[in-house]
Amino acid sequence: MYPTQMPSAPPTYDEVISGPQVNPPYAPYVNQPYSTQATSGTVVALPLGPNPARIKCPNCHADIRTSIDSQPSCAAHLCCLLLLLIGCCPLSSLPYCMDSLKNVRHSCPNCRIVLGSYQP
Ligand SMILES: [Zn+2]
Repeated sequence: MYPTQMPSAPPTYDEVISGPQVNPPYAPYVNQPYSTQATSGTVVALPLGPNPARIKCPNCHADIRTSIDSQPSCAAHLCCLLLLLIGCCPLSSLPYCMDSLKNVRHSCPNCRIVLGSYQP
């Protein structure tokens, strides 16, 4: 025996094709704001030269003369290596004595914060 209620006919091809158009949810383009936050840490970028500078410390707000800590730069190591390679062994330590080949780091003598660095 047939059931009294026939199931509805499947949708035709046209009905399927032109059916309700459901657009996928459009993800709005989120423009990531450029981070302008200062990098965390103790380094405060200030234009500083190779010599101690008299500035106002941004951390402890004291009028200070920066204390400097110089270290040989990569250029000094390269010059030393070059002098060794060309056979000038007695002069190979000369680049480490040259101020122009040193990185200088300025810090506050009060609070010890690193205020910046100078790289020749
Ligand atoms: Zn300070």
